[in-house]
Amino acid sequence: MRQPVRIAVTGAAGHIGYNLIFRIASGDMLGYRQPVILQLLEIPAMLDALKGVAMELNDCAFPLLSGMLITDVPEDGFAGADIVIMVGSRPRTKGMERSDLLTINGEIFRTQGKALDKVASPKAKVLVVGNPANTNALIAASHAKRLDAANYTSMMRLDHNRALSKIASHAGRPVTSVRKAIAWGNHSSAQFPDLYHAVVDGISASQFIHDPQWIEKEFIPAIQNRGTEILEARGSSSVGSAANAVVCHVRDWLLGTPENDWVSMGVASDGSYGIAQGVIYGFPVQCSQGRYAIVENLEITPFMRERMDESCRQLLWERDQVRHLMG
Ligand code: NDP
Repeated sequence: MRQPVRIAVTGAAGHIGYNLIFRIASGDMLGYRQPVILQLLEIPAMLDALKGVAMELNDCAFPLLSGMLITDVPEDGFAGADIVIMVGSRPRTKGMERSDLLTINGEIFRTQGKALDKVASPKAKVLVVGNPANTNALIAASHAKRLDAANYTSMMRLDHNRALSKIASHAGRPVTSVRKAIAWGNHSSAQFPDLYHAVVDGISASQFIHDPQWIEKEFIPAIQNRGTEILEARGSSSVGSAANAVVCHVRDWLLGTPENDWVSMGVASDGSYGIAQGVIYGFPVQCSQGRYAIVENLEITPFMRERMDESCRQLLWERDQVRHLMG
């Protein structure tokens, strides 16, 4: 029997958390032979709700769930964690500016980054979901230097998956025919969803689709604004698809990306594609043996450059807003 992997999840009783932890415990994320220990963190006001979630997890009798902890103390929740999934954060409310959200959630990620530094495994892999995810990841990383800086990532995978699905439906092909979409930049409406490098049944998607107008006027804004579209239709933000994207992000990071394909992850920029170092930016990556590498040498046209730079400028602005929260 393999050693269990310790997985910490913050905001575990929230909407995304509730949709996520059953899938982790069932084996969807790390495979059906890998036991897991769930370390679930919430704010004090949500601890009772979290107790109810823990009861439900027990009632599933998941064979792979070999332990569970529920807590409102970050140092306990992160103790010895191999994987840390940071979902917990304050949602944006009416009238709140992005800069308010940056400060409020930045405080949370400062506190939690310090706790990670004290108690998480130095090899822990961290995925930030709570928004503004890229900059929250940057704040946490700045306080948890004992961990490898390359192991702080933010979630771009929902944008990536949305792009795959949109290309497939427009091309009239199954989603399995589509590879190599990219969600560049920030997880915000300034992201750049890129199908120019994507392929459908091995043929360049832009050739397959023919229509540049559709790409610029429909595809790109549709992916950028998909969250809002779902919010309006459902009356609350995307949850099942966001939880699924977490499962995909961590699974591919740890178990590897399929051959001849890549995925999008928010990772520390190393200057690739002229993106400023010191921001966490959505890049195409290939993963193997628990490590990711940015896919290099893709052709960037002036149209793409403009959009990639716009996202970078937004991330630099966000970084300036939270400088006082960084370690
Ligand atoms: P959700 O579980 O619905 O969302 C959690 C976070 O994920 C939000 O910041 C949300 O951003 C973000 N997110 C990232 N990508 C997506 C996406 N594609 N679609 C939707 N959301 C996305 O929020 P809840 O309020 O239900 O749950 C949050 C939990 O966190 C609560 O249980 C709360 O108690 C806990 N919490 C914990 C804190 C802590 O640990 N210190 C502090 C504050 C809250 P967006 O708002 O932009 O949708």
